Amino acid sequence: MTRATDTRSSGEITGLLRDIFRRRGDESYLGEPVSMTEHMLQTAWIAEQAGEDRTVVVAALLHDIGHYTGEFGDDYIDIGVDNMHEVAGERFLGRWFPPEVTEPVRWHVDAKRYLCAVDPSYFSTLTEASVRTLELQGGPMDSEEVVRFSANPWLDSIVRVRRYDDGGKVPGRKTPDLEHYLEMVKEVLDEHLDAGD
Ligand code: FE
Repeated sequence: MTRATDTRSSGEITGLLRDIFRRRGDESYLGEPVSMTEHMLQTAWIAEQAGEDRTVVVAALLHDIGHYTGEFGDDYIDIGVDNMHEVAGERFLGRWFPPEVTEPVRWHVDAKRYLCAVDPSYFSTLTEASVRTLELQGGPMDSEEVVRFSANPWLDSIVRVRRYDDGGKVPGRKTPDLEHYLEMVKEVLDEHLDAGD
């Protein structure tokens, strides 16, 4: 669906996201010791503390939203299927959000494959679950893929969001609440939708 056919307001879209978090956010984050909401809030909090623009904080908050729009259940890792949640997330968010938000969402999985190829110390920082999904996602990039991936104009923010994602898996870490970040979501939407894309 494109913006032309989807005219929901920033308040309605923010409400939709709030509802998804409320209904699904307590689910575990695929093999990690945190819930989906904890993981997404921690990722946003790390981005915010790093001084990122609102768009990048919002990308960090919503990078895994595609897990909620997929058709596969939580056991997809066990049955060896990659659910392509980053593609689902980009499609969902792309109805309303600018590329500053959707590009880090779309490429956060490939950013792991990219970093494994270009940063020798990166692989050792991955959790066991993340190493497991790396295999399903195609393993480290080869040199041709690295060249292609590096051409993305949003490469830097894509890689930064990936690193925040990797850091957002700490049980019990305190963060601001969801409403704090939904306010930022609404601000980003108000700016973008007003700009008449
Ligand atoms: Fe994540």
